[in-house]
Amino acid sequence: MLVNMNEVLAAVQARGCCVGAFDTPNLEILMAVIRAAEKRKEPVIIQHAQLHEPEMALRVIGPIMVRMAKESTVPVCVMLDHGEDLDYIKKALDLGFSAVMYDGSSKPYEENVRMTRETVAMAQEYGANVEAEIGIVTGHEGKEFVGGAYTDPELAAKYVKETGIDALAASVGTVHGFYAAQPKLDFDRIMKIRELTGVPLVMHGGSGISVEDTQKAIRCGIRKINYFSYMSNAGVKGVQKLLEEKNVKYFHELANAAIDAMEEDILNAMAMFALE
Ligand SMILES: [Zn+2]
Repeated sequence: MLVNMNEVLAAVQARGCCVGAFDTPNLEILMAVIRAAEKRKEPVIIQHAQLHEPEMALRVIGPIMVRMAKESTVPVCVMLDHGEDLDYIKKALDLGFSAVMYDGSSKPYEENVRMTRETVAMAQEYGANVEAEIGIVTGHEGKEFVGGAYTDPELAAKYVKETGIDALAASVGTVHGFYAAQPKLDFDRIMKIRELTGVPLVMHGGSGISVEDTQKAIRCGIRKINYFSYMSNAGVKGVQKLLEEKNVKYFHELANAAIDAMEEDILNAMAMFALE
């Protein structure tokens, strides 16, 4: 069933754990995520990131995401990830997305506040929830590295108060994509931001963090983890393995191998997020 973000976050808050949020820019990943969530009988968040628009249009994958959420046996939140402009965010809401993220983290504070407030007002008309970011989680595919900026807890509290967002993406030591060196999470900062803002916290760049660190971050107050790179790479490895084992004639065999491998990776991630 299609649910909004606050419902999912309230459920994990009550259990003291965290929900996985997965970008699904193609049918294979989408099927793998829904299958894994149904196998675990747990809520999940599926997302389309604006930066994935060149490889998959929102108007194509969006309606499929919404339909699969509605038909699923588990609660599924359909969310726009890293929305950069209000037109694009409105498109997602028009398609029936139940949550949107506005990312104005690279903009000056006042502009970020203004745009975030507009996003919140618009989302409210649709009954949708809003995540927004302050501090910069770097490393987006195809984007220039600008140097990360850790989220300032005091400024984060001011930002949440001024915007009325439902969840806050905070920069606490992770980056998007693959790590060149072992990441170092700032757990004290997570606790401080959680304490001062009072809203559920979101950690982007969930791939490549050890199980121990991930679970410690969850215990400090992270309630949603965006996880993509390792899942996607598991699909690549699944295809490679099949090609080494047999002479594949049909593409669907590769697609199915990718789905199976990604599903396994997602099941492991979900177990980690559930503190298992
Ligand atoms: Zn992100």
